[in-house]
Amino acid sequence: MKNLKLTSLSSDDRKRTVVTVDNVKIGEDFVVIAGPCSVESEEQTIKTARKVKEAGANMLRGGAFKPRTSPYAFQGLGLQGLKILEKAKRETGLPVVTEVTDPRDVSWVCEYADVLQIGARNMQNFSLLKEVGKVDRPVLLKRGINSTLEEWLNCAEYVLAEGNQNVILCERGIRTFETYTRNTLDLGIVPSVKEVSHLPIIVDPSHGTGKLSVIEPMSLAAMAAGADGIIIEVHCNPCEALCDKDQAMPPDVFAALMKKLAALRSCMHEMDQDKKNIIVHRMKNI
Ligand code: PEP
Ligand code: MN
Repeated sequence: MKNLKLTSLSSDDRKRTVVTVDNVKIGEDFVVIAGPCSVESEEQTIKTARKVKEAGANMLRGGAFKPRTSPYAFQGLGLQGLKILEKAKRETGLPVVTEVTDPRDVSWVCEYADVLQIGARNMQNFSLLKEVGKVDRPVLLKRGINSTLEEWLNCAEYVLAEGNQNVILCERGIRTFETYTRNTLDLGIVPSVKEVSHLPIIVDPSHGTGKLSVIEPMSLAAMAAGADGIIIEVHCNPCEALCDKDQAMPPDVFAALMKKLAALRSCMHEMDQDKKNIIVHRMKNI
């Protein structure tokens, strides 16, 4: 891959970026970001925020600006939604990840957001990328619906080139001939990113599959593939969700998933320990 001056993994020190948001370190710990697709009301957001916090999530997600396929679908609450997210943060202590869709909104959305999300549809919105590159908020850069790894990393390059070094990549599924799932979650991209870039990468199995039954196994698979975290849509009352109802996870299912992730993490840690012990044993016998 040519001209990836700022996003490439250095062959000298192989140093990786760790993005710090309050006490959360993305790129060091496995991070879980959870919350509703959209901020619909104060009650819905705060109820959901409390539930995900209780289950052990590290950050809260929620869209106040919703880029929808249909202009007639719910477009988000805008500023009112951001104020609700601010209140949810005050109540739970969870840092907030929220989408920004317009370059003119970036500076004032920063007053409410701990992490600025660039959605899949805006991955190549270069004026938006340049704008988020100038502010001091980490950027969660989703992969475009039909983008290659090289195109995606070039978009991250736009942000880094403006001075903002805190970019987190997010695989959210790409469009293929398969229609059973909403998108095709490309988990092979996780070790691929690790091979070529120092940036952390998380996985969004909610948009990546669009199906509640597939989200849990894909969350576990994301961890096994080496992702730095996941971002999941959770709704306190999925049947009433105004956006992405079919993929909205109820809080009790989310809590059960968090337990499975913890079990898998300790399993993976044990495997790492075993590997280290075997290497030490071999070295001693040389
Ligand atoms: C979202 O996370 O709310 C969203 C709209 O995701 P994407 O841009 O990946 O479709
Ligand atoms: Mn959504």
